[in-house]
Amino acid sequence: MNPDIQSQTSPMKQNRTIPVYVGHTIIGGGRPVIMAGPCAVESKEQMLRIGRAVADAGADVLRGGAYKPRTSISSFQGLGLEGLEYLRDTGGILGLPVITEVISPVDVELVGRFTDILQIGSRNMHNYPLLLEVGRTTKPVLLKRGYAATVEEWLAAADYIAAGGNNQIILCERGIRTFTSQTRNTFDISAICLAKMQSTFPVIADPSHAAGIPELVPHLARAAIAAGADGLLIEVHDRPEEALCDGQQALSPQVFRELVRTVRKMTEV
Ligand code: PEP
Ligand code: MN
Repeated sequence: MNPDIQSQTSPMKQNRTIPVYVGHTIIGGGRPVIMAGPCAVESKEQMLRIGRAVADAGADVLRGGAYKPRTSISSFQGLGLEGLEYLRDTGGILGLPVITEVISPVDVELVGRFTDILQIGSRNMHNYPLLLEVGRTTKPVLLKRGYAATVEEWLAAADYIAAGGNNQIILCERGIRTFTSQTRNTFDISAICLAKMQSTFPVIADPSHAAGIPELVPHLARAAIAAGADGLLIEVHDRPEEALCDGQQALSPQVFRELVRTVRKMTEV
């Protein structure tokens, strides 16, 4: 067995994160990497507008979903190929690497042609054919924790990706489902620490999907960094009331800028 795979199931270990490289961006190298952008790519103009705002604020990676795994079939499902093109073009203009979600094994090759990081969403953490398929690529993969998965199951899912030879895995805690109804999910900070201790992968946090409301996002983001997260994934929208997906939890560009400033200060300390 590949020693990197075996290490995933070992008991507690000291921090021994092996960084993941995305061009000049190093995830897990000590400086928190901030990935940000709208939940979904909605148009060329929207992507460029919000892309410019997050780049200006100091984001390292631009996000935008082109294939959206929505709870309801009547919700906006994403622009597909057109969305991939807008995301890639915006990243190119701004000089930022991009990340986008892939939801089906048959799309992995196509999505991989447009993105620097493949995102596996919470709903797909248990989609083993999809995990195996991204594991056969040479692209870094961001693996979100399933909303009802234990840390053990999350790390076991990462093993599926690594089994294909792809060890460039970034774990992402995005909150789990509990009985509480005031937040969209419950942010599990212990999971960030445990995943760091029990694996060699960088671990980042997505406070946007955990909180579900923008007021909490900066607090959770700072808590994640204090707990040792290697970065953040933040949803940002300048016209949240017009957003086609997750507008209710998006940070304004102004609040995002302030958050980036605080995170950078925290790391200096
Ligand atoms: C997203 O990042 O927009 C997303 C769908 O997140 P999650 O898979 O965590 O729900
Ligand atoms: Mn979203």
